Amino acid sequence: MSDPLVVVGGDAAGLSAASKCKREEPDREVIVYEKSEWISYAHCGMPYYVKGEVDSIGDMLSLSPSEVRERGITLHRNHEVVSVDPDSQTVTVARDGEQFEQPYGDLLIATGARAFTAPIEGTDLDDVFTLHHMHSAAALRALLTPPGEADESIFDAGYVDLDELSGYFEREPPETVAIVGGGYVGIEMAEAFREWGLETHLYQRSEKPVPPFGEAVGERVIETLREAGVDLHLNTAVERLAGEDSIERVVAADGAVEVDCALVGIGIRPNTELVEGTPVTFGESGAISIDEYGHTVAENIYAAGDCAEKEHTVTGKPDWVPLGLTANRAGRAIGQTVAGDPEPVGEIAGTAVLKAFDLECGRTGIIDHERAREAGFDPVSETITAGSRSGYYPGNAETTVTLTADCESGRLLGGTIAGEDRAAVRINTLATALHEGTTVGEFEKLDLAYAPPFSPVWDPMLVAAKVLNGSLDN
Ligand SMILES: Cc1cc2nc3c(=O)[nH]c(=O)nc-3n(C[C@H](O)[C@H](O)[C@H](O)COP(=O)(O)OP(=O)(O)OC[C@H]3O[C@@H](n4cnc5c(N)ncnc54)[C@H](O)[C@@H]3O)c2cc1C
Repeated sequence: MSDPLVVVGGDAAGLSAASKCKREEPDREVIVYEKSEWISYAHCGMPYYVKGEVDSIGDMLSLSPSEVRERGITLHRNHEVVSVDPDSQTVTVARDGEQFEQPYGDLLIATGARAFTAPIEGTDLDDVFTLHHMHSAAALRALLTPPGEADESIFDAGYVDLDELSGYFEREPPETVAIVGGGYVGIEMAEAFREWGLETHLYQRSEKPVPPFGEAVGERVIETLREAGVDLHLNTAVERLAGEDSIERVVAADGAVEVDCALVGIGIRPNTELVEGTPVTFGESGAISIDEYGHTVAENIYAAGDCAEKEHTVTGKPDWVPLGLTANRAGRAIGQTVAGDPEPVGEIAGTAVLKAFDLECGRTGIIDHERAREAGFDPVSETITAGSRSGYYPGNAETTVTLTADCESGRLLGGTIAGEDRAAVRINTLATALHEGTTVGEFEKLDLAYAPPFSPVWDPMLVAAKVLNGSLDN
């Protein structure tokens, strides 16, 4: 019987698994099916490509199809896996209207996630975009570039259908855009649209943007967006996008605004349909449940990346935080496991960083008190503002840190940071502490580096820990 590792999805998790398995077990047949043209691409760079900061779409591709094949992996692009039969250990693959069966020894579901637009009416109008695919990034860049200025080389990575984009090349760029959703995609895209000079309206249903980054960061993001000239519609639900064929206006609780295009970034959903109806189970988030080795409850079926849950390092419970590093890491671990050397996929802390124009934001762990209580903690938080460097040293910038801990044990649960001077990378100190189960008292005593150009004597993280420790003592 054929024993290949079959991987569904040719990006971060899927190709990490395929490459690792092939390296560990060179004689094993490894087959990757990817439903689109694109493989090994950087979603994360798309806002900066649309902005024009990343020059060519090809710069965001990591491995080419030939490089993947040089690794001994059998790669099939434009092949969609449409069903899984765990009893016969086969998948059905569709290509060009035809289907065939593919047996597997091990199967990895690495199908990622997709943009979610369902609650908003009118997302099918022309010039309404999401940003979850390289095609959308190419289309947006083409739309924003004035006629005659589009150098086709910035679109052509061998994958982009230039004929499909040709309509955009000839049109005058839009002047007004609505961004629906103030999550990280919306904020990063606000920067891109402002760079092209568009009047930019950003709608966010809650009072503050980027809710996973908490109130204090949200406050600083609001200030930054306003300074950058973004029209903020906070606490404002969008009712619908309206127009004849193309979008003409956005209708929201605070009235209607005429716009030429819209970007919808209200969240994503895991791509799990493929294993619905099989014994594979799903967590509360809707993503696939796995054990510490990425194995689902179905024999020889694994899941990794944005389509799967993982154990949260603070709560010890399954959680869904779809991000790049953890997708790559889980894929790599599964590649090693199926090659015969079991490797846990690792835990997640929900560590994320975001650039909002010049403001750097970071978050990690559990910062929402309700979520902390649900996980059995008694949370307390403190927010401080401190300098990023010695006060007398040029470049010192106000840095806002919030730390959250459990009252009873003193254990750190999470935190956030915002500031314009290398604030984002400082979150990694806290993420490390969370993985170690560090208390606030222990964190306060860390020997962090000090020199005037880099940090004040008391790093902002240490200042926050000192204040939070004081609250715990009271
Ligand atoms: C705009 C944007 C910005 C981001 N920025 C960051 C960031 O700054 N930092 C960060 O950590 N993360 C970021 N992310 C998230 C990060 O890109 C994802 O976490 C990561 O790509 C997940 O990798 P994956 O392999 O699980 O899924 P994906 O990268 O989505 O790959 C899944 C692949 O599976 C294919 N597929 C799906 N179904 C099938 C099927 N049935 N048959 C065959 N193929 C199939 C898809 O076509 C896709 O190519 C960003 C995402 C977006 C959209």
